[in-house]
Amino acid sequence: MPKSMDEIVSLCKRRGFIFQDSDIYGGQNGFWDYGPLGMLLKRNVRNVWYEDMVDFHNELTTPAGAPEPYQMVGVETALIMHPQVWKCSGHYDLFHDMMVDCRESKKRYRHDHIKGRWVTGTHKKKEDAGEETVFVTAVDAEDVQAALDENALRYFGLKKKYLDTLSWEGDVISLPDLPADKLGEVVGPEATEKGTLTEPREFNLMFKTTLGALGGEDDAAFLRPETAQGIFVNFKNIVDTSRVKLPFGVAQVGKSFRNEITPRNFTFRSREFEQMEIEFFCAPEESSKWYTYWRDTRYQWYQDLGISQENLILRDHHAEELAHYSVGTADIEYAFPFLEPGEYGELEGIAHRGDFDLRSHMEGKLKKEGDELVVELNEHNQPKHRGSGKDLSYFDDESRERFVPHVIEPSAGADRGTLAFICEAYHEDEQPDDKGNMQTRTVMKFHPRLAPIKAAVFPLVKKEGQPEKAQEIYGALKAAGLSCQYDQAGAIGRRYRRQDEIGTPFCLTVDHDTANDNCVTLRDRDSLEQERIPVDKVVEEVVARLKG
Ligand code: ATP
Repeated sequence: MPKSMDEIVSLCKRRGFIFQDSDIYGGQNGFWDYGPLGMLLKRNVRNVWYEDMVDFHNELTTPAGAPEPYQMVGVETALIMHPQVWKCSGHYDLFHDMMVDCRESKKRYRHDHIKGRWVTGTHKKKEDAGEETVFVTAVDAEDVQAALDENALRYFGLKKKYLDTLSWEGDVISLPDLPADKLGEVVGPEATEKGTLTEPREFNLMFKTTLGALGGEDDAAFLRPETAQGIFVNFKNIVDTSRVKLPFGVAQVGKSFRNEITPRNFTFRSREFEQMEIEFFCAPEESSKWYTYWRDTRYQWYQDLGISQENLILRDHHAEELAHYSVGTADIEYAFPFLEPGEYGELEGIAHRGDFDLRSHMEGKLKKEGDELVVELNEHNQPKHRGSGKDLSYFDDESRERFVPHVIEPSAGADRGTLAFICEAYHEDEQPDDKGNMQTRTVMKFHPRLAPIKAAVFPLVKKEGQPEKAQEIYGALKAAGLSCQYDQAGAIGRRYRRQDEIGTPFCLTVDHDTANDNCVTLRDRDSLEQERIPVDKVVEEVVARLKG
């Protein structure tokens, strides 16, 4: 059965994973707050990424698929950077989406998010108008045709029972695919008249802010729209101070901000989100091999953490989709339940960026001319955006050569990853309750490394010293650094159910036999198997099983 996004969103709220930001004031669109469990889950996603990419990485051995051993280091850079950074990176000139406004509903939409279809009908109230053909549209609809039906009925002033008087033509298409001269025949997603959508306009996605108390235009600054630039501008600092040698990668996890026109699909498209990025620097002639390595490594990472291959695709961009600097780009995409079957949403992009970023920060913003990257000039033949003028090249001790390294960038979203892990984990099955009646069980099958709560400890009853023993075990697990819960409220079946719903992989129950055999029952969330474990081996056993 397909998973329902509504149920997933409702579980996230009910169990304290994700709340709408500023909920008590009616919410702030495009911003989300992680509750006690969501915060632990997302922290685990970030930590597991950092452990697997940086901490556990051994620079003395060659990982499977890698051309040779390599080094990894991390940085944490500022959210607000020098405005020139965004001019040279291209974000100032190029980082925009096309948007359209509706003069009637006063709503603003992303041009490419509007879908529509031609329909012919007769107006209920304007019968003398006769038949009319218009292009009705919908935005962000899970069932596009259902939304188009509703909007067409509204436009023609018809009740639902007249739906079959409408005649549809052609397929559903995106608004950018409609010839521009047809705009007058478009009925906006929330409009009652046609021709109320404006021509598409550019809208820069960077949040602008003002530094200092005086606040003139010269003090304008931007919240970073990606973490990557903090790595590029520190390239020289890192090479000079940390003894790294090519090939090496620099990792950074942190917040980014984009003033998305239509934030939507829960946390998938937010205005504030977290990225986990690597800039991997290598010799130009080695870069294709490293690109393939990172693309495959990152694709495998999601699968190792439980994302099934049927829900995950690796999509290589076509040549015309590539950014102006890129030699190759692939996206890792997930079949989120809010998408139509066969559609996927981006979790991570892996881009071969050539030497575009380092050279832009040296020489000024580059652009592609034929096969060459050249400095973009203004009408006075000066660099349009001046670079730092600092030397960001690299001197290779062995080859005795100086060059500007090439860069492979695996850029992942921590919130999108977390959402994919939540969607993938969500399961419903049928299990007997305490009285043997079959009940639907909601269970979040998180990979043990990601599960927010690693273990729950229960006394079967609140007597015979069971609570004291259970609290002792709880204390030992906590002391080992594991997030766990203690619960003595309600029937044991209900306590298991509560833990299943938040994805706790292991429940430990102290029962009548514990006083005799000094063992507890360990129940596995997925297999439901129960095993007796000696009390003094509990921490060791849980830690071993958490490795997955
Ligand atoms: P999209 O096409 O979906 O807007 P993008 O290609 O602009 O994404 P990148 O610039 O490649 O995204 O950013 C790298 C990663 O950052 C994305 O793969 C995604 O996981 C995350 N990301 C980007 N924009 C958002 C957003 N608005 N909300 C949440 N995560 C985001």
